Amino acid sequence: MAGDDPGAAPELEELRALVGQFRTHLEARGRSGLVGVVTAKSETAKSEKTAPAAPRQVVAAPAPVETEAQHPIEPIDDGEPSAAPPEKARTGKKGLQVLRDEIGDCQRCKLAPTRKNLVYGVGNPDADLVFVGEAPGADEDAQGEPFVGKAGQLLTKMIEAMGYTRDDVYICNVLKCRPPGNRNPEPDEVASCEPFLKRQLAVIRPRMIVALGKFAAQCLLRDDTPITRLRGGFRSYEGIPLMPTLHPAYLLRDPSKKKLAWDDLKAVNAALARVGIHPPRPPAG
Ligand code: URA
Repeated sequence: MAGDDPGAAPELEELRALVGQFRTHLEARGRSGLVGVVTAKSETAKSEKTAPAAPRQVVAAPAPVETEAQHPIEPIDDGEPSAAPPEKARTGKKGLQVLRDEIGDCQRCKLAPTRKNLVYGVGNPDADLVFVGEAPGADEDAQGEPFVGKAGQLLTKMIEAMGYTRDDVYICNVLKCRPPGNRNPEPDEVASCEPFLKRQLAVIRPRMIVALGKFAAQCLLRDDTPITRLRGGFRSYEGIPLMPTLHPAYLLRDPSKKKLAWDDLKAVNAALARVGIHPPRPPAG
């Protein structure tokens, strides 16, 4: 038996890990029902052409999960069953706490000595929608919470315009500690910290990720296409639909680009609506 051969053990382990990863990927795809590649522009055009003008359904509680068959979003046609498997109990809170404890007083990279606070993440541990930014700035470092400075206040407005609050969604960054002087994250810092972001996302299992700005989008997608070209088109991160959009700090520098970001967020709401997920409050027009 291969398992009895000590020389074969590493390969077997590798195979087991691969099978596990593949299974997780398939589960995520089955749950999401949102895996196709669609752009913000084509979304708007298509829904205007094909969707009858139904009254908007706004629900206060988490919306029932509907199947891909009820709400097709250009699924990849590979013969998989179209109905999503039954929802598992969500365990985000516990999982996020376990991971936070594991991170502890992190000293894994060179940012540790200069940070005031590690900025883990904030919001609903079972969120359908997760926003991922780059790294904490000075305000976030001081308060231990992501996106609380000027850019954060704009992000909060964007989230509210979508019909959510910060408590409804989850907000985090690729890096958990502030790079001194807000310099760009360095590869060794990303290598230390990104696995924690991946595990946060695996625990939360959102139905949609919004990557804020070039750094988060390029990092999660392993794609160095400029953000101006990435934005507005749905991509897939581990089977979860991901919308790259412009970073709120960039929008503060160039407010004329706010409309583009709003188009992206409207496309996110529209895609979620097609799988039965609606914001608790009506979005802005
Ligand atoms: N910019 C980010 O990318 N993240 C924050 O938390 C704050 C500003």
